[in-house]
Amino acid sequence: MKLIVTGGAGFIGSAVVRLAVARGHEVVNLDALTYAACLENVASVADSPLYSFEQADIRDRAALDRILATHQPGAIMHLAAESHVDRSIDGPGDFIETNITGTYNLLEAARAYWVGQGKPEGFRFHHISTDEVFGSLGDTGQFTEDTPYDPRSPYSASKAASDHLVRAWAETYGLPVVLTNCSNNYGPYHFPEKLVPVVILRALAGQPIPVYGEGLNVRDWLYVEDHADALLTVLERGQLGRSYNIGGENEASNIDLVHKICAILDDKRPGPGAYADQITFVADRPGHDLRYAIDPTRMREELNWRPSVTLDQGLERTVQWYLDNEPWWRALQDRHGVGERLGTKA
Ligand code: NAD
Repeated sequence: MKLIVTGGAGFIGSAVVRLAVARGHEVVNLDALTYAACLENVASVADSPLYSFEQADIRDRAALDRILATHQPGAIMHLAAESHVDRSIDGPGDFIETNITGTYNLLEAARAYWVGQGKPEGFRFHHISTDEVFGSLGDTGQFTEDTPYDPRSPYSASKAASDHLVRAWAETYGLPVVLTNCSNNYGPYHFPEKLVPVVILRALAGQPIPVYGEGLNVRDWLYVEDHADALLTVLERGQLGRSYNIGGENEASNIDLVHKICAILDDKRPGPGAYADQITFVADRPGHDLRYAIDPTRMREELNWRPSVTLDQGLERTVQWYLDNEPWWRALQDRHGVGERLGTKA
């Protein structure tokens, strides 16, 4: 299949690009190359005849029309987004523009292209979203695909809005869509402002490892390469118009996650003391959701999909990747805001 992957120079998008090319799909990576992008993430496939790159902003309708007409894809996988909750607290405008207006633009461009092609049955618009649209859970329960939306940060509200637009374009215009809402990803090429790489890199630098509040917020952790596999599964076999929750079946509190990473580092790169001694509790994120958890029944029963790695296995691979790829993360640490405490302007 020929795919356009938006946001293919980001963390998850690049994993999708690498996997899709490895599986023989033709892939056009459409990315504006914002601060969060890194073309190194797709260097392993850049020379493949199956891969091409288009630098474009999803807010630019004319560029989208041109790219669709040029490449004539059979599907669009839409991952381009502003994705960092803390940045959304300090500056929500970019999140509204890219995640909502950008998705609207892409939907309209996709619709015009699909209609122009004679509404091919096999065409898919796959919208990639987050479990954060469902809000915050207490100590028990899990998000199903029918859980009412209750977003609580500018980021999750903008993603929720984009999900609603995608469903509206399916209902109103018949655009063939599938949606996925996934839990927290981690793994190789994770931008160094997100929790897992922050912990690894602060630990290695001998600096305080910041943990928000008391570290009791619980997330379900999904290894990024498992996520990419799940996304291709939904694209190929997901039921039209349906949404699928994708989880890692690996719940952990932030403090437990940080301790796990420190223990792996103690083993792989012993320092003068235990890395956990560097853990420092800092003021909590405003509106910090307590717990997210995914009910994976639909992915399991309809699509026979389950994650392939446990959290311990995935973290071990991730820590090893950061130890082996220092030039990659060093180059990104100079970018705007990376390493600073963000999300305090509420
Ligand atoms: P990321 O921030 O690493 O990458 C986003 C990519 O989108 C970057 O390459 C960036 O240049 C590009 N982009 C941003 N604005 C753009 C625009 N206006 N036009 C074109 N390209 C633009 O994000 P990620 O963590 O890889 O997340 C990818 C998708 O998955 C997002 O839609 C996000 O909401 C969703 N998601 C992420 C997670 C997670 O844990 N990271 C969890 C659930 C869902």
